[in-house]
Amino acid sequence: MSAGVRVGVIGMGNVGPAIASSLRAAGARIVGVSARSAAARDRADAMLPGVPLLTEDEVGRQAEILFLAVPDGQIQAVTEHLVASGGIRPGMVVAHLSGAVGLDPLAAASAIGAIPLALHPAMTFSGTSLDVRRLQGCPIAYTSSELARPVALALIEYLGGVPLRLDEADRPRYHAGLAHAANHLVTLLVQAQDVLESAGVDGPGEAMRPLVEAAVERALTEGIDGLTGPVVRGDDATVNAHIASLEADPELRDVARTYRSLVQATRVALKGDSAEPLVLHTREQLRRALEDDPRPTSLVMTMGALHAGHLSLVKLVARSGHKVVVTIFVNPEQFGEGEDFDSYPRTLEEDVAALAEVGVDIVYAPPVSEVYPHPSRIHITPGPASTTLEGALRPGHFAGVLQVVGKMMNLIRPRVAVFGQKDAQQFVNIRQMVEDLDLPLELVQAPIVRDEDGLALSSRNAYLSDQEKVQALALNRALELGREVLDGGGSGEEAVTKIADHLAASPGVEAQYVALAAADSFEVAALWTGGSSSLGVENLTVLQPGSEAYLLVAAQVGPARLIDNVTVRVKADD
Ligand code: AMP
Repeated sequence: MSAGVRVGVIGMGNVGPAIASSLRAAGARIVGVSARSAAARDRADAMLPGVPLLTEDEVGRQAEILFLAVPDGQIQAVTEHLVASGGIRPGMVVAHLSGAVGLDPLAAASAIGAIPLALHPAMTFSGTSLDVRRLQGCPIAYTSSELARPVALALIEYLGGVPLRLDEADRPRYHAGLAHAANHLVTLLVQAQDVLESAGVDGPGEAMRPLVEAAVERALTEGIDGLTGPVVRGDDATVNAHIASLEADPELRDVARTYRSLVQATRVALKGDSAEPLVLHTREQLRRALEDDPRPTSLVMTMGALHAGHLSLVKLVARSGHKVVVTIFVNPEQFGEGEDFDSYPRTLEEDVAALAEVGVDIVYAPPVSEVYPHPSRIHITPGPASTTLEGALRPGHFAGVLQVVGKMMNLIRPRVAVFGQKDAQQFVNIRQMVEDLDLPLELVQAPIVRDEDGLALSSRNAYLSDQEKVQALALNRALELGREVLDGGGSGEEAVTKIADHLAASPGVEAQYVALAAADSFEVAALWTGGSSSLGVENLTVLQPGSEAYLLVAAQVGPARLIDNVTVRVKADD
C-alpha cells in the first residue's frame, strides 16, 4: 500500500474520526467521510479539516479502502446497500471496526470480489484528537482471509497499532473477554463506591484509587498471583463478616450477591484447572452456593466411600455446562435394625480429592442433624416396586431412600439427576416418585462399573478380604450364565435356576434371591429364594416379548451383603 492511497470513512461517531485522522497523518488521502447527525458532522469538521463530507454512496465510489465506522448492527445493511449502489466494487478493501463480529456482515462485499477485513482497536474512543495518540501502540485485533492478511497488517501499521490475529469463530469470545474486563470492572467499582459511601466515606473514588490502581496493575502483570485479601488468605471469618454487613442493608443486597459470586469465582481462580469442589455442610451454605451459580444443576447422590462406579456417574454430567453437585450422606432412614449404618465406610477427605479430579463444583456432605433436624413428620410412601426383593428383605429401605432423595431434590432442584443401574430396584422407585410427584427433572441411569474381573464396584466391597473378593466374582459369573440361558431361548425360570445352581456351587457365597424383573415396573417374572419366603412376590408377571428386564441377585459373601444385576432383552414369553 502506498502513501496517497484513497481512503473513505463512513460514520463519524467516536471511532471514525480517529481512524481517518490517523491514516491521514500516515500519508493516506482521505477522499471523503460521511456523517448522519449534526454532532457527527461537527466532529468531522473539528478533527478532519478540509476533508469533504459526502453521501455514503459517494464516499464509497471515491475510495479504494473503505472503513465502515458504524454501529455493529448496521454493518451488514450498509454493506448491502453500498454493494447495490456501486459504492462497494470488486477489488476494493472494506473494513469494519467492530470487536464483536467478524467477516460475516461483510459477506455481500466479498461476494462481488471486494476484500473484507474486520479490525478492532481494543480501546475506548472519545471522539477527540486524544484518540489518535492513544491508537499508537494499541492492540488491533484483525480477522481476514490469508490473502488479505498483508493488507490488514499494513493498515494496522498505518494506524500505529499492534496486530493481534483472531479467527472468525473466536471473535465473540475475544469481545466477551474485553467487555468482562473493561465494562464489568466499572460495575464493580461503582458498587464498591456505593458501599464506601454507605459507610460514610466522602469521595469514595479517590479513597479507593491507590488500592484499585495497584490491583489492576498486579492483575495485568502477575495474574491471580497478584491477588491479596481475605480469600487468598483463607480468612473465611472476614469474608463472612463482609457478606453479613452488606446483607444487613437492603440497599446493598445486590452488592452482597455480586460479592458472594466473586468470592466463589476467586476461589476457583486460585485453584486453577483442578478446581477443588466447594465442600458444604449446611443447607444455608448450599442455598447460597446454588444461588451464586446460575447454571442448571446436575445431581449425583451417594453415600460416599467413592469408587470408580460413583465417579462414572459424575463423568456423565461433568463438563456438560451444568454445575455438578454431589451429595455424600449416609442416610440413617434407609438402614434397618442391625444393618451396617454405624460401620458404613466414611472417607470424606479422599472422596473430595477424587471428585476434584472429575470436575465437581459442589460437594454437599451434611451431618444427620442438618438433613433431619427433627424426625420426619411427612413421609413419601413408595409404591409396589418397593415391597418385593430388596424391599422385602430390608423393610422401610425404599421409604428411607425416597425420603432423602426427595429432600435433596427439593433442596438442590437439579435439572438432571444420575443414579446407577447397580441399584436397579432403587432406580425404578425413584423414577416412579419423579413421575408421580411431577418432579421437574430428567433422570439418567448409568451402567454398572465393574473391576477387571467383573466384580461390580461397591463401597461394601471394602468389607471383603482378598479371598472373599474372588468368591464374590461368582455373582457376575452366575448372572452371565443366566443371560446365556435367556439368549438361547430358555425361560426365565430356567435362567434363574441356572444362576441359583451356580451360586450354590460357589464356595463362600450364600444367595438370598435370584430374580427376573421387568425393567419398567419391576414386576417379578421368575424368582428363586431358596424356599425361605416369597420376598413379597405374590404373583409372577409375564414379560412382554422384546421388553427389557433385569436378572438380579443378592448374596451374602463373608461380612458383606452384595447385590448385582444385568439387563436382558426378553425373547419369547416367559
Ligand atoms: P451409594 O453410594 O451406594 O448409595 O451409590 C450412589 C450411586 O452410585 C447410586 O446411584 C448407585 O447406583 C451408584 N453406583 C454404586 N455402585 C456403582 C457401580 N459399580 N457402577 C455404577 N454406579 C454405581
